[in-house]
Amino acid sequence: MSKQTLSFQAEVAQLLHLVTHSLYSNKEIFLRELVSNASDACDKLRFEALDQPALYEDAPNLEVRVTFDKAARTLTISDNGIGLSEQEAIDNLGTIAKSGTKDFMSRLSSDQKATASQQGQLIGQFGVGFYSGFIVADRITVESRRAGLPASEGVRWVSAGSGDFEVERIDRPQRGTSVTLHLRADADEYLNTWKLKGIIAKYSDHISLPILMRKEEWKEGEEGKGGDMVLTDEWETVNQASALWTRPKKDLAPEQYIEFYKQISHDSEPPLAWSHNRVEGSTEYTQLLYIPAKAPFDLWNRDKKAGVKLYVKRVFIMDEAEALLPAYLRFVKGVVDSADLPLNVSRELLQESRDVRAIRDGNTRRVLSMLEDLANKQKTGPESGEGKIDIGSGEAVPAPTPTQDVTDVADKRADATTPAAEAAAEYADESEKYARFYAEFGAVLKEGLGEDFSHRERIARLLRFASTASDTASVSFADYKSRMKEGQEAIYYITAETLAAAKNSPQLEVFRKKGIEVLLMTDRVDEWALGYLNEFDGTPLQSVAKGAVDLGRLQDEAEKKAAEEAAESFKPLLARLKDALKDKAEDVRVTTRLVDSPACLVVQEHGMSTQLARLLKQAGQ
Ligand code: ADP
Ligand code: MG
Repeated sequence: MSKQTLSFQAEVAQLLHLVTHSLYSNKEIFLRELVSNASDACDKLRFEALDQPALYEDAPNLEVRVTFDKAARTLTISDNGIGLSEQEAIDNLGTIAKSGTKDFMSRLSSDQKATASQQGQLIGQFGVGFYSGFIVADRITVESRRAGLPASEGVRWVSAGSGDFEVERIDRPQRGTSVTLHLRADADEYLNTWKLKGIIAKYSDHISLPILMRKEEWKEGEEGKGGDMVLTDEWETVNQASALWTRPKKDLAPEQYIEFYKQISHDSEPPLAWSHNRVEGSTEYTQLLYIPAKAPFDLWNRDKKAGVKLYVKRVFIMDEAEALLPAYLRFVKGVVDSADLPLNVSRELLQESRDVRAIRDGNTRRVLSMLEDLANKQKTGPESGEGKIDIGSGEAVPAPTPTQDVTDVADKRADATTPAAEAAAEYADESEKYARFYAEFGAVLKEGLGEDFSHRERIARLLRFASTASDTASVSFADYKSRMKEGQEAIYYITAETLAAAKNSPQLEVFRKKGIEVLLMTDRVDEWALGYLNEFDGTPLQSVAKGAVDLGRLQDEAEKKAAEEAAESFKPLLARLKDALKDKAEDVRVTTRLVDSPACLVVQEHGMSTQLARLLKQAGQ
């Protein structure tokens, strides 16, 4: 058959127009798209060859090669995957089959307000598959032969990215597809090994096939002329060629998990814990989540995005996918690899996706259970002080939730005798990890009380405070409850700017006298966060600095009577004080809460606390 010229489907023409007439914030994604197509083609071959091993012909090793020709100004991405027949080239490269891309197109065209450059940015984020090649190329040649067809049934497809494309039959002995980009004048930067390697490392490192490039070597120039890098005939693999999180947990050593963590987090310290799971069910994904040992300098910036990278079927989609975790878990690092999301998913679409909500919920439960696991290993009293060593396994115990749909990738936990022991030696004492975590991230976790109502109870259990019985932040609500006095009906706490201020507050006097423990809260977020927690496990929380502290059954009859009598006999004095302070105090009353001090300030039950008022004042409110 001779050469034929065909028109693109209307939507493709429209898309191409956008691609070629918009500015790009993120040009380089074309390479990610083309490499991912090459990888898909290899996956398809692998799948079809399950029934027809002959499809492998004489080339069973699937791979992707990236080459360029400076003189011709071309960049070529080749694979030995399934390939395209002539009809497939016409159908698949001339129409948009994918519903996701179609949706995207209709969104774009319905939004008439978007300027060309905004559209360009959008496309940069979405990626538009094969057509993204036209971001950098003014002509694309595709040569291909489908696996199983004779060499004479190869196809050449050529287009300049305007209304039409040409197809003709060619001879092509090798199976698979080569996509050659004839680069635009402003796309010279891609004729450079170093640049290409960088892009591949950034987006395609974890493609499970080897991506090969020609090795370069330094060649001295002749007499006095400078030398240059020249391409050799040797090939090297420029990606890691295996996605760590896709491998079974039992094949991975803790060192590998730790290395991977360092690579994705840019943190030099090993993480405190990690959890690696394949989640199956209506939404399928793999999660590999890490709890760092150290807070980054910008932890307090609530706009800071969560450190979880999103992949779709091993292809990198985006860093800091904030939709995958709530803000109060923004310290978590890791990777989520979804089997269900489209490759061209955007941040905007992520927010709306049901799959993403399921992933976010699964991640949240997983992180909370990792933390519960660390907290359970914490030394609580002298009798549990053995510091059981359980290294080599960073994974948490499965979360004890009824909706659990997790199958562990691994079946076994490594034990303390593996060589992994050394790798995690720094944190040999599991029982110290939670305190370390809490010192770094406890205050962030507290934000969850106000942010995540569905897990409020679990978050509350993870909180630790200093108290009148402990100077360090080590008292949980449960510890507190277990020490409550006979007849005590509330969990008492006080908020203050410093531990010393809290401890010396006159409001504590009566509690001290009666030997009642009071939690001392000195984190900036405490006031706000505790406002969302009215009770813990059935016991109300009560600020000792608010309202008339009712000690309830803790007060004996004689004390109550004395208080009532005092209130009566001091009435005239109270009236005079009230009058004198009428601009400053709302009420003046006799109290039983003081022992040594003559007077103290309190706020009304539902008023803003003095501590919060001070904070707001500081913030200029
Ligand atoms: P997607 O990859 O999401 O399907 P693309 O626009 O990236 O969309 O590619 C369109 C289609 O072109 C693919 O579905 C596939 O059928 C075909 N295709 C693209 N690149 C290759 C390749 N290297 N080998 C075989 N087929 C390819
Ligand atoms: Mg694609």
